Amino acid sequence: MSPSFPLIDIPISELLASTGRPLLSYEFFPPKTEKGMNALQAAIEGLLDTHPDFVTVTYGAGGSTRDQTLEIGELLRRFRYQPVMPHLTCVGHTAEELHDIADRIHEDGFRNIMTLRGDPPKGHDRFVTVEGGLSSALELVHLLKNRHPDFCLGVAGYPEAHPESRGKQPDMDYLKAKVDAGASFITTQLFLDNAVYYRFVEDCEAAGIHVPVLPGLMPALSLDQIRRITSMCGAVLPAELERKLEKGGEDKDAVMNTGILWCTEQIVDLLKQGVPGIHLYILNQIKPAMAYQLAKTFMEMTDQV
Ligand SMILES: Cc1cc2nc3c(=O)[nH]c(=O)nc-3n(C[C@H](O)[C@H](O)[C@H](O)COP(=O)(O)OP(=O)(O)OC[C@H]3O[C@@H](n4cnc5c(N)ncnc54)[C@H](O)[C@@H]3O)c2cc1C
Repeated sequence: MSPSFPLIDIPISELLASTGRPLLSYEFFPPKTEKGMNALQAAIEGLLDTHPDFVTVTYGAGGSTRDQTLEIGELLRRFRYQPVMPHLTCVGHTAEELHDIADRIHEDGFRNIMTLRGDPPKGHDRFVTVEGGLSSALELVHLLKNRHPDFCLGVAGYPEAHPESRGKQPDMDYLKAKVDAGASFITTQLFLDNAVYYRFVEDCEAAGIHVPVLPGLMPALSLDQIRRITSMCGAVLPAELERKLEKGGEDKDAVMNTGILWCTEQIVDLLKQGVPGIHLYILNQIKPAMAYQLAKTFMEMTDQV
């Protein structure tokens, strides 16, 4: 049976250049359990009507979910989400294996890859390069571009510094090196205070980085969740948001609505400032995507589109 979707994805760089409006993207992850798979299916079906411009699928830190990245990618395409951008990391792979994975991604018609080093494997506090492997996203950008020059690559940026940051200037120089090596756009780590994003974009410009910087946002769905995630990735949890979430107490819906509303306000502000897009870390759920829909509705009602 021939597939009903176009075989070759359009590069996201082309979308960014030609669409003439901010793009909307969602990040999915391969679930580990059947329950998780059902939740993913429900999200995939439930979000169809929101028409994201592209979607991405993360690459597991190790183990079985890695093979699922492309399978979930195919599933998303069957539901007519396109383009789908698989993530790829260097963790645990030799360069030869990465060549094979790159070839398979290319053969399957994907043309966009979120290009990452990956976190240190469980039990290690520092990244471990396997023998014959790569030790940075920069090296992976080089490998992928050499193998398939028509890949469009996104790379990660850290407005509040990566936990392994060597300082602001080395970080910027390194990010510029990733772009100079061929990355077409940057997607940021999540942030909850837009001021840090605006500063980061200014710093990128000053460093000579002129590719689009897509803001990555994640609505707080519970106090525990957002405290855990921000402490892991080094993003600041604004005191005002924390206070508001605490006020919700045991009322889970109230807490979630507070988190979504905060994110909605972030999106309205970002769109007003003319960002190239909004990337939502939706955690395979429908609710986080509501923040964008609410922001759009608010802007339409107040004539700010
Ligand atoms: C948008 C996004 C998507 C992600 N998706 C995934 C995923 O699918 N799977 C997953 O496992 N993880 C994912 N991550 C997490 C990511 O793998 C981790 O943050 C990881 O620790 C770093 O990966 P990186 O590609 O940013 O690494 P790199 O860009 O190689 O480096 C990370 C940081 O290290 C420092 N650094 C490294 N080399 C140098 C150098 N030569 N000079 C100066 N500084 C240097 C810099 O501070 C740099 O920002 C994602 C993160 C983001 C923001």
